Amino acid sequence: MSTKPKDEGLNSPQYPIPEDLQGVVTITTLDRIYNWGRRNSLWPMMFGLACCAIEMICTAAARFDFARFGMEVMRASPRQADVMIVAGTVTKKMLPQVVRLYNQMAEPKYVVAMGACASGGGPFKEGYNVVSGIDQYLPVDVYIPGCPPTPQALIYGLMKLQEKVDRQTIKEVYGRRAEMIPIPVLGPDVMDPREYDRIREYTRQKAEQEAAAAAEPEAAQA
Ligand code: SF4
Repeated sequence: MSTKPKDEGLNSPQYPIPEDLQGVVTITTLDRIYNWGRRNSLWPMMFGLACCAIEMICTAAARFDFARFGMEVMRASPRQADVMIVAGTVTKKMLPQVVRLYNQMAEPKYVVAMGACASGGGPFKEGYNVVSGIDQYLPVDVYIPGCPPTPQALIYGLMKLQEKVDRQTIKEVYGRRAEMIPIPVLGPDVMDPREYDRIREYTRQKAEQEAAAAAEPEAAQA
């Protein structure tokens, strides 16, 4: 019996390989080899927003070591990163920068919402300065619960992301054009350019109501 490990991960669609060729020869599909290369070299972008980032840093360090997943190459440039781990509280002040960085990443790209804050605002939900979930702006692929999630939870989330990559096909992924997300504007509050029509309509109605309310006393005096 051969002691060589079976390369079942790459050998898909599972054609039987003679025992003496196992680990040497693999029969696979184009989708599988493309996804296998990508899933084992997902490079995260190197940034963190709050306390969850400390757990992310621990995950990269020696004890948990996500180098085992080919993810240790954290990139300081979004143009070289595959996955954005949103680790921490997303404040309204920081949001435009986060969306801009996402836009600058090349396709195929993925977003992991790490922790309660990134997933839904966490303990600061409805706070005056905090976004109630980054999924209001970016397409999140994996949510990781916890405040903060442990390194094990982050690793599990990244493994779920790998499974998602496994299910994709080169026809959909390769050469896909990045969808640019309008960058939110920070004024008195954060404004989403996608909501401008609704904001304009609301402002117009409000102005009409105020004008009507101001005209009423004048009509009563006359
Ligand atoms: S989820 Fe908890 S640990 Fe993570 S950034 Fe928010 S408050 Fe900090």
